Amino acid sequence: MAFQVSGQTYKGHVESMADQIEQKVVSYRRHFHQNPELSNREFKTSEFVAEKLKSLGLEVKTGVAKTGVVAILKGGKPGPVVALRADMDGLPVPERAPLEFASKVKSEYNGQEVPVMHACGHDTHMAMLLGAAEILTSMRKDIKGTIKFIFQPAEEGAPHGEEGGAKLMIKEGVLENPKVDAIFGIHINAQTEVGKIKYRPEGTMAAVDILNITVKGRQSHGAYPWLGVDPIVVSSQIIMGLQTIVSRQIDLTNQGAVVTIGSLHSGVRSNIIPEEAKMEGTIRTLDANMQNSIHERITRTATNIAESAGATAVVDIHREYPITFNDKELTEKTVASLVKAAGKDNVSLTKAVTGAEDFSFFQEKVPGVFVFVGGMPKGKNVLETGAHHTPDFFIDESGMKTGVKAYCFMALDYMEAKK
Ligand SMILES: [Zn+2]
Ligand SMILES: [Zn+2]
Repeated sequence: MAFQVSGQTYKGHVESMADQIEQKVVSYRRHFHQNPELSNREFKTSEFVAEKLKSLGLEVKTGVAKTGVVAILKGGKPGPVVALRADMDGLPVPERAPLEFASKVKSEYNGQEVPVMHACGHDTHMAMLLGAAEILTSMRKDIKGTIKFIFQPAEEGAPHGEEGGAKLMIKEGVLENPKVDAIFGIHINAQTEVGKIKYRPEGTMAAVDILNITVKGRQSHGAYPWLGVDPIVVSSQIIMGLQTIVSRQIDLTNQGAVVTIGSLHSGVRSNIIPEEAKMEGTIRTLDANMQNSIHERITRTATNIAESAGATAVVDIHREYPITFNDKELTEKTVASLVKAAGKDNVSLTKAVTGAEDFSFFQEKVPGVFVFVGGMPKGKNVLETGAHHTPDFFIDESGMKTGVKAYCFMALDYMEAKK
């Protein structure tokens, strides 16, 4: 039987404390929301988080991966090490929502002055994890293991030329000392109704690979194309060829995939066929084998089409973010914790997302589960709500209580099962 806290089961304790501290969690969220900071610049955010964690009596480490904060809660009984993660950064987006605590902050991004807003909801993640930390600390002596609270900077990507995010935290040893056995993460979702939780086993959010193709032909007068090799026509053929990879060459019943060319540059004027064309694109995949196979097919398609025209194509694919891959077995076990947090009717499977998350770097090292918690007001439909990364992005704060409970139950149930 699960352990008891002051005469009730830990489920009851978590629930009553989540009610008690709900307003506190909301006030934390509003503080973060009004004071957003960009990736790798979460200085004040970091101070606030560290101060709250220290006031709980936790062992706190700051300056991890620049502005990250890690706190350790050692339970009164031996057991595994579980990590709970929240990300910390805002985005260069102007806030348009008519909120009392709307952001008016301006900052500098890659040399440019920009408005800053918590337009992805990372403010709610920090608030929810601080709430969970308070609840879990109140149960310290009964906890069977260790909980690591990871507040991670720069999820949205570090500024040009800087390292950051989950990758840098791992490099600096966040998963060691003590060694983490499993990790759980939450993303608030503006298109999922409050009170609901969505999850997916295995490929949940996509890997991002950046694709660069340089096509070299031979320059000539636009009036005499037969004297040259036209890299613009070859590039057009390559772009059309790439369309058949997802539509004709991969097993779409396995997982979805996307190949997008987002830029194509070549030439300077109407009557000169240039020597070179450059294109850039993004590849999104949810399965590692499909990812590798698509890379090979892109290279084969581009180089052979170029060759057929007497041109050359150099293909460069850079792996940016891995797949946010929810460990199958751990996900199956975690569903019970989600049901505890939200109720059976409010937990459901979701479609895979072709956007990405740098939580995926943690999941490459240890089994992890990443879930979506609803932040859309009840009764609204998806098209009426401001999407993530837009000026109208909006979160119904009543959804955070579900997230606080989910963090607690994911950690407690894991430790209970492993003891
Ligand atoms: Zn985002
Ligand atoms: Zn996000």
